[in-house]
Amino acid sequence: MTVVGAGPVGLVLAAELALAGATVQVLERLTEPAAAMKAMGINVPTAEALDRRGLLPAAEQVQRETLERMGSFGRPGDSRFTGHFAGMVLDADLVDWADPDLAAHDAVAGARMVPQRELEALLADHVARLGVPVHRGVEVTALDDTGDGVLVGTTAGAVRTGWLVGCDGGHSAVRRLAGIEFPGTDPEFTGYLAVADIADPEKLADGWTWTPQGAYRYGPQPGRVVTVEFDGGPADRSAPVTLAELQASLRRISGIDVTLTALRGTATRWSDNARQAATYRSGRVLLAGDAAHVHSPFGGQGLNLGVGDAMNLGWKLGAVVAGWAPEGLLDTYDAERRPLGAWVLDWTRAQVGVLRGDAKSAALRQVVADLLSTRDGTTYAVKQLSGVTQRIDLPGGHPLVGRHVPDLWLADGSRLADHGHAGGFLLLDRTPDRAFTRLAAPWTGRVTSVPDDFATPAGVLVRPDGVVAWASDSSDADGLEAALQHWAGVVAVRIGR
Ligand SMILES: Cc1cc2nc3c(=O)[nH]c(=O)nc-3n(C[C@H](O)[C@H](O)[C@H](O)COP(=O)(O)OP(=O)(O)OC[C@H]3O[C@@H](n4cnc5c(N)ncnc54)[C@H](O)[C@@H]3O)c2cc1C
Repeated sequence: MTVVGAGPVGLVLAAELALAGATVQVLERLTEPAAAMKAMGINVPTAEALDRRGLLPAAEQVQRETLERMGSFGRPGDSRFTGHFAGMVLDADLVDWADPDLAAHDAVAGARMVPQRELEALLADHVARLGVPVHRGVEVTALDDTGDGVLVGTTAGAVRTGWLVGCDGGHSAVRRLAGIEFPGTDPEFTGYLAVADIADPEKLADGWTWTPQGAYRYGPQPGRVVTVEFDGGPADRSAPVTLAELQASLRRISGIDVTLTALRGTATRWSDNARQAATYRSGRVLLAGDAAHVHSPFGGQGLNLGVGDAMNLGWKLGAVVAGWAPEGLLDTYDAERRPLGAWVLDWTRAQVGVLRGDAKSAALRQVVADLLSTRDGTTYAVKQLSGVTQRIDLPGGHPLVGRHVPDLWLADGSRLADHGHAGGFLLLDRTPDRAFTRLAAPWTGRVTSVPDDFATPAGVLVRPDGVVAWASDSSDADGLEAALQHWAGVVAVRIGR
């Protein structure tokens, strides 16, 4: 099994495959991790995925350090993560944090400000601990799906592998080589994210400013600049960002003769190019993360969407390799992830609509700003951004089915998430006679039963990606066996059980 790309998505996928028992390697063309500035924070499903694999303390430490770095630009001690819509910052004080969806996923609140570079370092350690080799300086240049495996051409020679997953970013070579179409909408603007030395920073207002040319943001740390210029999109997206280019764009947008004297670190160029792969699977080749979908970073969704892909795909592909995957399991990857990807593309497109500099967009922006100044409006947007409302359409009548499992505290003081570090399914069993555990006994090895003495819900079957596959509020095991067979495969059931 080969994963192409050691970005956040490739690393999460490699780890999940290893936990599912697959032999996996990662091929990465860069000799060192990328230095470019990208994602600043993670959403609830990503934080909960880290939590289930025992990585929450490390992520919380990153958040503490990040908030400290933000210093006076941040709100000291306030780790409530809200985000923004087209630069309209969502006010944490307006959010109804008691909303049942938000309150049900509060345990990871200490790990939301986790910048991409630190996240990748944390994931690289995780992958190393699992013994997965990451071969750096190896670029994939060709592939041939032979039906029983994939012959992969690389700059270090040919590799034969059972399955190939392209987690190789928006310009994915794997997607191109597999002949997968990438339809969508063209970019309208060029954006930059950089930290710069600025001779006269007092000329820039903190926060977001909209102008007829686009928008810019100064902060939330000294020298950090984000720009959006409606210029038809970048001519060359991969050329390194220069100081002169960034300064010129910032001056055009702001109309201020601000002077940048140096770039600190690697600046990023981005756009609102929005595309989704026509299929996430072609034979033995699959796509995940930016390789499967690209869009503007407004609302901080791309990394999170990709990590969700990796969590969804990892255990399914692992089950195929291990030989116990139920019929059609791998096809559920595209079916379950595509609608969410399409939603994210539209969420970012909607923001482009209110960011344009013309009078109609400005009027629309005011309407949205008014809505976002209400408790209901802000709470709605924060729920969408945080991922707590994500739901997959799965068989089963309980309201939890298809949702990410909420925080579930157990009588011994642990949380259900604490029992998921090794991967696999979790079955919470609160029946007095452990009836659910007995029913699931034939799936031992794939399903870990967690007995508990609290009352409600009485039973929950959680897939390895954190999605609830079955739940019951009573000792009635109705539907549990069917759910186990549907997701965890058919097993030989002992007669006389
Ligand atoms: C300015 C900016 C801000 C952002 N902010 C956020 C945010 O706040 N929240 C959020 O969720 N997302 C954000 N994103 C999006 C996020 O950065 C991406 O969605 C994320 O990096 C995707 O991860 P990935 O692993 O799919 O791809 P990448 O991170 O692009 O990793 C792909 C890897 O594959 C390697 N590779 C490429 N081709 C080959 C090849 N042929 N052979 C071998 N290796 C190859 C690359 O070197 C790279 O290491 C932001 C993006 C930008 C640009």
